[in-house]
Amino acid sequence: AATIRLLSSSQVITSVVSLVKELVENSLDARASSIDVKLESYGFDKIEVRDNGDGIKAADVPVMAVKHYTSKISSHEDLQSLQTYGFRGEALGSICSIAEVSVTTKTSADDFSTQYVLDSCGHITSQKPSHLGQGTTVTVHKLFKNLPVRKQFYSATKKCKEEIKRVQDLLMAYGIIKPDLRIIFTHNKVLLNGFLPKPNSNYTLTSLSSPDRSFIFINRRLVYQKDILKLVRLYYNLMCSKDSIHSYPIFFINIIIPASAIDVNVTPDKTQVMMQNKESVLLAVENVL
Ligand code: ADP
Ligand code: MG
Repeated sequence: AATIRLLSSSQVITSVVSLVKELVENSLDARASSIDVKLESYGFDKIEVRDNGDGIKAADVPVMAVKHYTSKISSHEDLQSLQTYGFRGEALGSICSIAEVSVTTKTSADDFSTQYVLDSCGHITSQKPSHLGQGTTVTVHKLFKNLPVRKQFYSATKKCKEEIKRVQDLLMAYGIIKPDLRIIFTHNKVLLNGFLPKPNSNYTLTSLSSPDRSFIFINRRLVYQKDILKLVRLYYNLMCSKDSIHSYPIFFINIIIPASAIDVNVTPDKTQVMMQNKESVLLAVENVL
């Protein structure tokens, strides 16, 4: 039975984009006006879809991820006048059999939201109160944990990047057909803080500046990141007037990214790091500049 379950599930959810599509359509069916989609490490570490929709009624919660359960049709006639994306009751159950899933939900009748952890058969194994507002958040970890070949196929870097593009295109399409919908997509959210002097300020004067006054930290670890360094210097060289040539501005930047998105073991002293999503980090630095 487990094998049949896995086989049929893996046909419903064949990729990161098909999983995101099912979750977003559930949010739309729940009349959400705001949807947040977050991926970490191309979706293999985490996929989260949060909405402000109707939430899941207490009576529907125990069966929400049971195969072929759907709250969306109650009679045969409903099938003919289908107003919703979902009606087969397959998505949540299928996702449970190929990943680790938790669902946090609150309806307008509930006093607070509750987070439910589901097992591979879609049964609730634990629950606890949560702080989230009305709506539903589905969190998926370890996608394709029991389908190693598929995981390997999709985690090839080129394939991963294509998938992110497909997720963006998909969400853009919903944004176009539903102009009132607020839909936000983030992949490996990068947090930045630090000190960057104003161009032409004392901190960028030649006399003070030297190459060893540039500090870049990733997750609080001092690192050598040539591309970020180059980008910052280019900015100051473009922004500062000729009489204060300062190719070495004094600055520090602290970048916070998911630990899984970096590889710190590039050099034995761990000062050189590899980032899976270097472009998005560079873009974030550029925005701050
Ligand atoms: P379907 O969409 O075909 O009904 P799913 O497996 O996608 O099947 O979802 C199962 C049930 O879980 C839905 O019928 C609905 O009751 C509930 N559900 C899932 N996601 C949401 C959501 N974001 N908001 C409200 N209810 C949801
Ligand atoms: Mg659905």
